[in-house]
Amino acid sequence: MITAENINQRKATADVDSWIRERIKPEQIVKYLDNGKHFIDEGLIERELAANTKPNAAKVREIMAKSLAIQTLTPAETATLLNVDDTNLLAEMEQTAAKVKTKVYDNRIVTFAPLYLGNYCVNNCVYCGFRNSNKTIKRSKLDLEQVRAETEVLAGKIGHKRLIVVYGEHPQTDVNYIAETIRTIYDVKVKTRKGIGQIRRINVNAAPMSIEELRFLKEVGLGTFQVFQETYRRDLYEKLHPQNTIKGDYLWRLYAMHRAMEAGVDDVGLGVLFGLYDWKFEVMSLLLHAIELEKKFGIGPHTISFPRLEPAENTPFVERPKYKVSDADFGKLVTVIRLAVPYTGMILTARENAKIRREILPLGCTQTDASSNIGIGGYADVNTEQQGNRQQFILGDIRSLDTVVRELAEAGYITSFCTAGYRCGRTGSKIMGLLRSGKEGCFCKLNAVITFREWLDDFATEATMQAGEKVIAEEIRQVKEKLPQIYPQFMKFYKRTTAGHRDLYF
Ligand code: SAM
Ligand code: SF4
Repeated sequence: MITAENINQRKATADVDSWIRERIKPEQIVKYLDNGKHFIDEGLIERELAANTKPNAAKVREIMAKSLAIQTLTPAETATLLNVDDTNLLAEMEQTAAKVKTKVYDNRIVTFAPLYLGNYCVNNCVYCGFRNSNKTIKRSKLDLEQVRAETEVLAGKIGHKRLIVVYGEHPQTDVNYIAETIRTIYDVKVKTRKGIGQIRRINVNAAPMSIEELRFLKEVGLGTFQVFQETYRRDLYEKLHPQNTIKGDYLWRLYAMHRAMEAGVDDVGLGVLFGLYDWKFEVMSLLLHAIELEKKFGIGPHTISFPRLEPAENTPFVERPKYKVSDADFGKLVTVIRLAVPYTGMILTARENAKIRREILPLGCTQTDASSNIGIGGYADVNTEQQGNRQQFILGDIRSLDTVVRELAEAGYITSFCTAGYRCGRTGSKIMGLLRSGKEGCFCKLNAVITFREWLDDFATEATMQAGEKVIAEEIRQVKEKLPQIYPQFMKFYKRTTAGHRDLYF
């Protein structure tokens, strides 16, 4: 029987289908190919991995010296490091990775929270709880009032200044929705204990977009644009992402960052979903992607992410992944990424449990999330903890930001809430130059102390305040010693911040 409901349903499906058909712009892929070829040379990766086995210590140390000089490694050098099995040599690599991180980023760890805005998705990635064919998941997207409510909790109660906003791929959460939600988030200001809480940088993790869409989002205030390739192994990619879906197009995704660069979004975040394929192949591919961006645009990736596959609601694929990455290999791949692309930011997420995070963070990570809730509407919804049937996968670490900040402070790290670089135009090639030369560290150190002061005064518990004060005292001592010319101005800003002024930065 034909009913009004039936007709509406058919029309909605036809609308979605026509939206899907128009997503991919082949000319925005083809223009970047070199003689018709893309830059993931699988033959080269396999040859280098096979040719550089049983590396000797002298060779490995020579390569590490290059990392310490903040130079991107070659595929052969990276393959050599990936093939190190000697435990003493591996320990040396870990120490060097930590040194590289300190040289570029000092003892700072930047923190952020993920905010999931919608779980409608037209794709069918076999590993993801949001895939279209998963009928047990409750679908929703936040309206702007709900976005505001989520932001008020994040910026006003927890104290975040930086978010990664996450969207499925669907006409309901298209580029206009992304823009509206970004504007709404930036607009929220909440009174805190001593000042005002607000989100100052919004990074986006969403499906690949066209150059025009990315230009539009740049104007709205998009920070880093993240798209993970999931796996760079093309034949496997095409199996895991059904070919009748948008995400099934390997090249549309592979060139997402080229389009971002062309649109002026020059902070881009690469990533692999580890556990889908051989981790050595994926690290080599991340390196080739970084080299390609450096070559074509003079700017490498602002960040690299390395999520491991996590269990997801009604998602049998993730139960026994063939290429599951062990904890030991995970440590090794993080170490090698740090050494191979020494300037890049590295993001360790709350997908990993607290113990793993403690072990992996010192290997060169620069950013981590805390107080994370990946259920749609999960921050403001006080009745629900983590909501299995509204979230994409299950988190390993749901400790509060306060707990994580305290733990970091006790280990000698300063949690930085700094978002200044982006707002002062220190992005893309400018930030790359500063990072390679170690100069970004100066600005960041000052801004880290000021934003940490803000956070402690506005949000810290007593115990965290105590641990934080020790870190701040040491940082101020170092500023006085290492940056005497800026010290007086810095102390002016610091004192004004202590008095309740907010958002002072260098
Ligand atoms: N829909 C967009 C996309 O696929 O690019 C962006 C959002 S998607 C929700 C963000 C990332 O989550 C994906 O790129 C994928 O790497 C990761 N992800 C998906 N399923 C996962 C799982 N079961 N465990 C861990 N990470 C997962
Ligand atoms: Fe959709 Fe992204 Fe999940 Fe794939 S990974 S099903 S594109 S939300």
